[in-house]
Formats: sequence, structure tokens, C-alpha cells
Amino acid sequence: MSQLDVAIIGGGISGLSALHYLRKKNADLDIRLFESDSKPGGTIGTDYIDGYSFDHGPNGFLDREPLTLQLCDELGLTNHLERANENASKRFILRKGKLREVPMSPPKFLSSDILSLKGKLRVIMEPFSSGLGDTKDESLYDFAKRHMGQEAADYLIQPMVSGIFGGLAERLSLKSCFPIMAEMEKEYGSLFKAMIQKSRKAKAVGKKSGGPGGPGGRLTSVEGGLYGIVERFVELYSDFIQLDTPVKSFSREDDTYLIHVDNSQTIKARHIIIATPSYVAAEITKQLSEKLSASLSKIDYAPIAVVCQGYHKSNIKHPLDGFGFLVPQKEKLRILGSIWTSSIFAERAPKDHVQFRSMIGGDGDHESLQLSDADMLSTVESDLDSIIGIKAAPEITSIYRWQKGIPQYKIGHSEVMKQIEAELGKFENIYISGNAYYGIGLNDCVKQSYA
Ligand SMILES: Cc1cc2nc3c(=O)[nH]c(=O)nc-3n(C[C@H](O)[C@H](O)[C@H](O)COP(=O)(O)OP(=O)(O)OC[C@H]3O[C@@H](n4cnc5c(N)ncnc54)[C@H](O)[C@@H]3O)c2cc1C
Repeated sequence: MSQLDVAIIGGGISGLSALHYLRKKNADLDIRLFESDSKPGGTIGTDYIDGYSFDHGPNGFLDREPLTLQLCDELGLTNHLERANENASKRFILRKGKLREVPMSPPKFLSSDILSLKGKLRVIMEPFSSGLGDTKDESLYDFAKRHMGQEAADYLIQPMVSGIFGGLAERLSLKSCFPIMAEMEKEYGSLFKAMIQKSRKAKAVGKKSGGPGGPGGRLTSVEGGLYGIVERFVELYSDFIQLDTPVKSFSREDDTYLIHVDNSQTIKARHIIIATPSYVAAEITKQLSEKLSASLSKIDYAPIAVVCQGYHKSNIKHPLDGFGFLVPQKEKLRILGSIWTSSIFAERAPKDHVQFRSMIGGDGDHESLQLSDADMLSTVESDLDSIIGIKAAPEITSIYRWQKGIPQYKIGHSEVMKQIEAELGKFENIYISGNAYYGIGLNDCVKQSYA
């Protein structure tokens, strides 16, 4: 049995970018990537149907991470990247059944109807908010409430958290989800003060600074749909990718790992990169270390469904002049929000047609994922109709269900990561990469695989 230098398990963006970086570093390495599915890409997928293109999971990455842009460049995609339309920069939040524009500047915030006068005054008092909270591990909700008051926590922060994590702000950990904010509080006490300082420092070196969580960025995809990035990996590396190969477990024999595959094949490798979701990593490491497996299995995932729908433009009353909207839990609707895909990337729907991408489910609503397709569609349609006005049924629909969609960095996540790192440290030459650990977005996956 020949021995690989490196075996990569999992062919999502984490595994594929690890393959790319290793090939770039040393083209002589004997590497193979094992993917259980018949197609690589993991949660990245695009369907092209009747002039529409529907992304199954992620629909882009923020162009604030130089490493991802560099990766795209190395893949030869720089001239095929598509940035979100400038005219789609307005974002909305639902309040009392009406869409309210999210204000992007202090004067706009003061005149906005997104919060009551009392709520806005409380936000303005942020620099005087009570100092450090639970320095061990505070929830995103408690942090937001302490800094900006309950109304802002309910109507600004909670919907943003469900839009990014499909999660509940009360359950998620500030320091694991937004480590930069936790650092800013430690250094400056107030987020406003921190932003002013950041902006001064950025101006001094001729740069623009972003919001409190980081440097901002524009949603970026590949022409036609995000799967274009996976297709490019496949063009370059198909000889190194073995599809339809689910890894079941692995064990150690001297300084080599024996990887056991579903079809009772055994592969030898000196190094292993596990780039599967953490619950799969927990399964396949059980034989090697019960403790490592137990720690990996502590990371929960939120279920989420992406419902894509296409309509003739004339059937929608709203002008769709923005990015889309988010729904606070207090509004008691079923959808978490809806992205106006064809306003962001014009080519994702045929001429005079529009595409919506609505999310349903999340950690606060596991039941929605049990709905039949027909019930899910009618729920989404009725919620959308109440918000943007729909005159006719969609001409096309596509549902993508992710029963274990988005990892939840709950309070205690950093402790779980310490346990995982400690257990991994007991074995040589095993590495983990993926969005369950140190950042849930595509940029985070690329960064981890590079490291
Ligand atoms: C609905 C949704 C919307 C999202 N939107 C965005 C967004 O807009 N922007 C953004 O930055 N991020 C977004 N994300 C997050 C983003 O999709 C992930 O961060 C990223 O795709 C995770 O990549 P990964 O390679 O770590 O994992 P995955 O994509 O899950 O890939 C893991 C791979 O491992 C394979 N595998 C599983 N078991 C085995 C086994 N036993 N043996 C071999 N292979 C196995 C799987 O088949 C899969 O291909 C979204 C996620 C979801 C679900």
C-alpha cells in the first residue's frame, strides 16, 4: 500500500483551498482529497434553471479579506468576480410590518424610524454604557443590550445575528462570534469611541475604516454563481480529488495514519487535514480518540432552508431598491429575511424578472425544516406578500434544505475549542479546518486553510 504525504478529508471550500495552498507550496507532495459526495463544493452550489441561477448555500464573500481575493486571483478568477451592485446597498429591517431602512450614518440614524426616540437616545448614550460585562463569555444579546439598550438589541442586533448565523443572539458568544468587538470593548470601553479611534487611525494612513465588527466589505461572487469558484478548483486539481469516497474512520500505525473508507479501502497517509463539518469530524475521529470526538460533537448546528423564487417584475409591488431585509424575532413571522438577489447581481434572473432568496428556520425555529415543500413555499410566499406585495405565484421555485446548516458558536465555544486543540495536540500531523471552529464565513475557511 503506497503512502500519501497528505490526505484531505472533505471537499468544501476549506478542503479545496487547503489542497490549493499545499500544491502551491510544494508541487512534489503526494496529496489526495477525499470527498463523500459525487460533487465537491460542500455547501457551495449553484443551479442554472431557465435563465435564473440559484445559489444553494452561500451567495458570496465579503471582499474585505485580501487572502480570499488573492486565492481567486491564483485561480484565475479576478476578471470573473462580480461585486454587489452599488445601487443595492440599502438594507431594511421589518418593524411593525413595515420595512425600515437601516441608517448608515449618524444623521440618518437620528432621523430614522427604525427605533423609537427613546431607543435612539439610549443608543446615543453608548459611550456611557456600563463597563465590561461578563468578561468570561457574554451573549451577543446581553452585550448589545448593555451597550445600546434592549430596543436596539431586539431590532438591530438580533436580526443581524439571525441573518449571519441563523442563530439566537441570547445563545451565541460575543467573543467567539465577534472577537474584534470584544477586543474593542476591552481597549476603549465603548464601541463608538473605538470606531472614532479606528477611523482616525485609518485616515492617518489614507484608508477607510468599517463598522464596529471589522472593516466592512462588499458581497462578491463569481459571474453566474458562486459554484464558479468550485468549478475552477476542479479544472486545476481534478487529478487530486477522489469523489464518492466517504471516510469512515482512521487509526494510527507507528508514524502513519490508516484511513478507512466506506468501500473497505484503506489509505495510508503521513498527514491528515479534516475539513468536514465538525459532527462528521467527531464520527471519524472516534476510533482515534474518544475525547477528541466528544469535544468535536459539542458544536451544534442550526438548521436552515434557502427558498429561491423567481417572479416577473410586474408582479412585485415593492421597487426592490436594496439588498433585502431581515426580520426581528419580535415581528413573529416565519422567514428570517429575504435577499433580493437580482438587485444585487443583475444576471441572476432573466430580463424583467426578479429573484428572491429567503431564509427560514434557524436555531430558534427547528420546526420549519420539517415543513413539506408546499407548506414551506406557501409560508414564505405569504410572509413575503405581507411585506413587499406579491400579485401572482412565482414562476419558478427551488428549495435547499440544510438540516445542519450553520455552526453555532454558543456561550462556551472558546472552551470547547481549547479542549479540541488540547486533544489534537496529543497527535502529530492531524489538522482541522472548517467553519465550525474560528469563523463561520467563506473568508474564515480560506484563512484557516492557509494557516
Ligand atoms: C444557507 C447558508 C448560507 C450561507 N451564506 C454564506 C454567505 O453568504 N457568505 C459566507 O461567507 N458564508 C456563508 N455560509 C457559510 C459557508 O457556506 C461556509 O462557511 C463554508 O461553505 C464551509 O465550508 P467547509 O469546506 O468548511 O464545509 P462544507 O462546505 O460543509 O464542506 C465539507 C465537505 O465535507 C464533505 N464530507 C462530509 N463527510 C465526509 C466524509 N465522511 N468523508 C469525506 N468527505 C466528507 C461534505 O460532502 C462537504 O463537501 C452559508 C452557509 C449556509 C448553510
